Amino acid sequence: AETYVAAAEEGARLNAFIAHTSEQALKQADAADARLKAGDAPAMCGIPLGIKDLFATEGVQTQAASNILAGFRPPYESTVTRKLWDAGAVMLGKLNMDEFAMGSSNETSAYGPAINPWRRKDAPDTNLTPGGSSGGSAAAVAGDLCLAATGTDTGGSIRQPAAFTGITGVKPTYGRCSRWGIVAFASSLDQAGPMTRDVRDAAIMLGAMAGHDPMDSTSADLAVPDFEAALTGDIRGRKIGIPREYRVEGMPAEIETLWAEGRAMLADAGAEIVDISLPHTRYALPAYYVIAPAEASSNLARYDGVRYGHRAKIRQGEGITEMYERTRAEGFGDEVKRRIMIGAYVLSAGYYDAYYKKAQKVRTLIKRDFEQVYADGVDAILTPATPSAAFGIGEMADADPIRMYLNDVFTVTVNLSGLPGIAVPTGLSSQGLPLGLQLIGRPWEEADLLNTAYALE
Ligand code: GLN
Repeated sequence: AETYVAAAEEGARLNAFIAHTSEQALKQADAADARLKAGDAPAMCGIPLGIKDLFATEGVQTQAASNILAGFRPPYESTVTRKLWDAGAVMLGKLNMDEFAMGSSNETSAYGPAINPWRRKDAPDTNLTPGGSSGGSAAAVAGDLCLAATGTDTGGSIRQPAAFTGITGVKPTYGRCSRWGIVAFASSLDQAGPMTRDVRDAAIMLGAMAGHDPMDSTSADLAVPDFEAALTGDIRGRKIGIPREYRVEGMPAEIETLWAEGRAMLADAGAEIVDISLPHTRYALPAYYVIAPAEASSNLARYDGVRYGHRAKIRQGEGITEMYERTRAEGFGDEVKRRIMIGAYVLSAGYYDAYYKKAQKVRTLIKRDFEQVYADGVDAILTPATPSAAFGIGEMADADPIRMYLNDVFTVTVNLSGLPGIAVPTGLSSQGLPLGLQLIGRPWEEADLLNTAYALE
């Protein structure tokens, strides 16, 4: 009993689940049993999952961890979660995240931060962040509260929390998974993906999540390969690029070492390691932090107190304008307001050319950097997933927001280019915390990417 009491307490401490759907889980589990007995065993049959609160789940609280969506129960199911249920998976509940997926530490959530189950050797009592924005997903999988979880990644929100918690996270090619029914942050960057214990689980779960959906005009009409079958571990002759621009200033020695070890592992497995250049890398973060807020400011205009969730009370003599203003003032947190203001500013008539248009041009240059490298025969690119191990709750949030944004330095280029990326845990820091490497693949070649990651595991 003590073991279970401790496990329950630890589960509550992690603050990963913000809604439990136990009744539904038991029903789905019964249905999964019945399918198994009938000799029908789909890929995810009976697998208990946590679902990031960004996915619309029919009849179940869906708030994007924001007060503005308080009480919202969608009358529809997102395509990705629908596919998972069709494949036999079981929903345990909704997972904590940064509000509207804006953040890298889960600290912008209206539910308070999720906590990383890992602890620093020198400060075992300090609560660490699981990363973000899919922090609840990462904490739940790493803390054994579910077997796998869904995440979404706009600038790194699957890969960074995966790296901080020692799990595997995949950001598929833009268009591989339908965005229908996922609360929009930055529509040209958002992708859903699996967060799992290992590469094999990721391959199986991605296969269940992916596929064409006429409800999302950017969803690709391509067959979904058997990702699991691609895991042969044979990467002989694959060309792996090491981009020199990712050796950023101030990178800790242990991240350098991790990266070198990853190169050695791939070389030992028969891959050819080549130095490459992605010259526009240094402009990626500033371009991302113009484009993502611009799209967000437009997407978040719909939260007006009329259509969904929270509606502020108005006083006598006030009208709908005051209702809009007060609803948004009360409902959105500080980081979301900051993004809306930045977005509205860079899209405004006087600044559009100087910021938004410029950022879009930079985006094209970044994409071309990758196209050039792949045209030169590179199959995948190896980089660190994050510039550091997990940091303490409050450690970055209290500083200037730019410090938090720097977390995304290795991940945003992948979203800006629409490419697939994966974070795999490959080592531990001197403090005993997980560290991860990132592999970036060719568009639509997740099967090959997963197999290369499999060789790193
Ligand atoms: N940390 C990044 C941001 O705050 C990425 C978030 C994400 O991928 N959803 O925008």
